Amino acid sequence: MKIENKKAVAMHYTLTNAGGEELDSSKGKDPLHYLHGFGNIIPGLEEELVGKEKGDKISVSVPPEKGYGVRNDQNMLQVKKDQFEGVDDIKIGMEVQTQGEHGLQMFVVTKVFGDTVILDGNHPLAGETLNFDVEVMDVRDATEEELEHGHVHGPGGHHH
Ligand code: ZN
Repeated sequence: MKIENKKAVAMHYTLTNAGGEELDSSKGKDPLHYLHGFGNIIPGLEEELVGKEKGDKISVSVPPEKGYGVRNDQNMLQVKKDQFEGVDDIKIGMEVQTQGEHGLQMFVVTKVFGDTVILDGNHPLAGETLNFDVEVMDVRDATEEELEHGHVHGPGGHHH
Protein backbone atom coordinates (compact mmCIF):
# COMPACT_ATOMS: atom_id res chain seq x y z
CA MET A 1 0.00 0.00 0.00
CA LYS A 2 1.37 3.37 -1.03
CA ILE A 3 1.30 6.56 1.01
CA GLU A 4 -1.32 9.05 -0.15
CA ASN A 5 -3.97 11.26 1.42
CA LYS A 6 -6.05 9.58 4.13
CA LYS A 7 -3.45 6.92 4.92
CA ALA A 8 -2.20 6.40 8.46
CA VAL A 9 1.58 6.11 8.37
CA ALA A 10 4.11 4.85 10.91
CA MET A 11 7.74 5.79 10.37
CA HIS A 12 11.09 5.94 12.06
CA TYR A 13 13.05 9.11 11.49
CA THR A 14 16.24 10.88 12.39
CA LEU A 15 16.42 14.63 11.99
CA THR A 16 19.75 16.39 11.52
CA ASN A 17 20.53 20.02 10.77
CA ALA A 18 22.74 21.33 7.95
CA GLY A 19 25.79 20.82 10.16
CA GLY A 20 25.02 17.13 10.64
CA GLU A 21 24.00 17.55 14.28
CA GLU A 22 21.20 15.21 15.37
CA LEU A 23 18.18 17.22 16.56
CA ASP A 24 15.60 14.52 17.04
CA SER A 25 15.08 10.83 16.41
CA SER A 26 12.52 8.10 16.98
CA LYS A 27 15.30 5.50 17.35
CA GLY A 28 14.77 3.37 20.42
CA LYS A 29 11.23 4.72 20.75
CA ASP A 30 7.91 3.99 19.09
CA PRO A 31 7.74 5.07 15.47
CA LEU A 32 6.01 8.34 14.69
CA HIS A 33 2.42 7.87 13.54
CA TYR A 34 0.73 10.51 11.41
CA LEU A 35 -2.24 10.99 9.14
CA HIS A 36 -1.15 11.83 5.62
CA GLY A 37 -2.60 14.93 3.97
CA PHE A 38 -3.62 16.65 7.20
CA GLY A 39 -0.57 18.76 7.93
CA ASN A 40 0.46 16.60 10.89
CA ILE A 41 4.10 16.83 9.75
CA ILE A 42 5.99 19.58 7.95
CA PRO A 43 4.99 20.05 4.29
CA GLY A 44 8.44 19.34 2.80
CA LEU A 45 8.57 15.90 4.40
CA GLU A 46 4.94 15.05 3.76
CA GLU A 47 5.21 15.65 0.01
CA GLU A 48 8.32 13.47 -0.33
CA LEU A 49 6.55 10.55 1.36
CA VAL A 50 3.82 10.34 -1.28
CA GLY A 51 3.95 6.99 -3.09
CA LYS A 52 6.31 5.36 -0.59
CA GLU A 53 5.55 1.96 0.92
CA LYS A 54 6.35 -0.07 4.02
CA GLY A 55 10.08 -0.80 4.10
CA ASP A 56 11.07 2.18 1.95
CA LYS A 57 13.94 4.30 3.23
CA ILE A 58 14.36 7.88 2.07
CA SER A 59 16.57 10.85 2.83
CA VAL A 60 14.92 14.23 2.46
CA SER A 61 16.39 17.70 2.68
CA VAL A 62 13.72 20.23 3.61
CA PRO A 63 14.38 23.95 3.05
CA PRO A 64 13.05 26.40 5.70
CA GLU A 65 10.16 27.47 3.45
CA LYS A 66 8.80 23.92 3.57
CA GLY A 67 9.87 23.30 7.15
CA TYR A 68 9.37 25.62 10.11
CA GLY A 69 9.51 28.79 8.02
CA VAL A 70 12.11 31.50 7.65
CA ARG A 71 13.07 33.68 10.58
CA ASN A 72 10.95 36.80 10.81
CA ASP A 73 11.97 39.88 12.80
CA GLN A 74 8.30 40.66 13.31
CA ASN A 75 8.24 37.71 15.69
CA MET A 76 10.64 39.56 17.99
CA LEU A 77 9.06 41.34 20.91
CA GLN A 78 10.42 44.00 23.27
CA VAL A 79 8.83 44.07 26.71
CA LYS A 80 9.50 45.51 30.17
CA LYS A 81 10.63 43.34 33.06
CA ASP A 82 7.62 44.31 35.16
CA GLN A 83 5.40 42.52 32.64
CA PHE A 84 6.79 39.25 33.96
CA GLU A 85 4.49 38.78 36.90
CA GLY A 86 5.89 36.53 39.58
CA VAL A 87 9.23 36.00 37.84
CA ASP A 88 12.17 37.49 39.76
CA ASP A 89 15.04 36.18 37.73
CA ILE A 90 14.65 36.56 33.97
CA LYS A 91 17.34 34.58 32.19
CA ILE A 92 18.39 34.21 28.57
CA GLY A 93 16.97 30.99 27.13
CA MET A 94 13.93 31.07 29.40
CA GLU A 95 10.69 30.11 27.65
CA VAL A 96 7.59 32.20 28.19
CA GLN A 97 4.08 31.91 26.87
CA THR A 98 2.14 34.98 26.03
CA GLN A 99 -1.19 35.84 24.49
CA GLY A 100 -0.50 36.95 20.93
CA GLU A 101 -2.57 37.79 17.87
CA HIS A 102 -2.98 34.10 17.06
CA GLY A 103 -3.62 32.73 20.53
CA LEU A 104 -0.99 31.54 22.95
CA GLN A 105 2.50 31.90 21.57
CA MET A 106 5.81 30.58 22.86
CA PHE A 107 8.73 33.00 23.15
CA VAL A 108 12.33 32.56 24.21
CA VAL A 109 14.18 35.28 26.13
CA THR A 110 17.14 36.26 23.93
CA LYS A 111 18.36 39.50 25.55
CA VAL A 112 18.05 41.29 28.86
CA PHE A 113 19.33 44.83 29.37
CA GLY A 114 18.23 47.24 32.10
CA ASP A 115 14.53 46.69 32.56
CA THR A 116 14.05 45.66 28.94
CA VAL A 117 13.64 42.07 27.73
CA ILE A 118 13.81 40.90 24.12
CA LEU A 119 11.68 37.89 23.26
CA ASP A 120 11.99 35.72 20.15
CA GLY A 121 8.79 34.08 18.93
CA ASN A 122 10.33 32.33 15.93
CA HIS A 123 10.21 28.55 15.95
CA PRO A 124 13.58 27.26 17.21
CA LEU A 125 14.05 25.51 13.85
CA ALA A 126 12.96 28.49 11.72
CA GLY A 127 15.53 29.26 9.03
CA GLU A 128 17.08 25.77 9.27
CA THR A 129 17.43 23.30 6.45
CA LEU A 130 16.32 19.99 7.94
CA ASN A 131 17.58 16.60 6.84
CA PHE A 132 15.37 13.62 7.54
CA ASP A 133 16.33 9.96 7.25
CA VAL A 134 13.07 8.09 7.20
CA GLU A 135 12.06 4.44 7.17
CA VAL A 136 8.42 3.71 6.48
CA MET A 137 7.27 1.09 9.02
CA ASP A 138 3.59 0.80 8.16
CA VAL A 139 0.91 2.21 5.87
CA ARG A 140 -2.80 1.57 6.38
CA ASP A 141 -6.16 3.13 5.60
CA ALA A 142 -7.25 5.66 8.18
CA THR A 143 -10.51 5.04 10.02
CA GLU A 144 -13.52 7.34 9.62
CA GLU A 145 -12.95 8.61 13.14
CA GLU A 146 -9.31 9.42 12.45
CA LEU A 147 -10.26 11.33 9.30
CA GLU A 148 -12.88 13.26 11.26
CA HIS A 149 -10.33 14.18 13.94
CA GLY A 150 -7.46 14.82 11.54
CA HIS A 151 -4.98 12.64 13.43
CA VAL A 152 -4.06 9.02 14.09
CA HIS A 153 -5.54 6.99 16.95
CA GLY A 154 -4.35 3.79 18.57
CA PRO A 155 -0.76 2.82 19.44
CA GLY A 156 1.61 5.73 18.97
CA GLY A 157 -1.23 8.01 18.01
CA HIS A 158 -3.50 10.48 19.68
CA HIS A 159 -5.09 9.43 22.97
CA HIS A 160 -8.37 10.65 24.36
ZN1 ZN B 1 -8.92 12.00 18.00
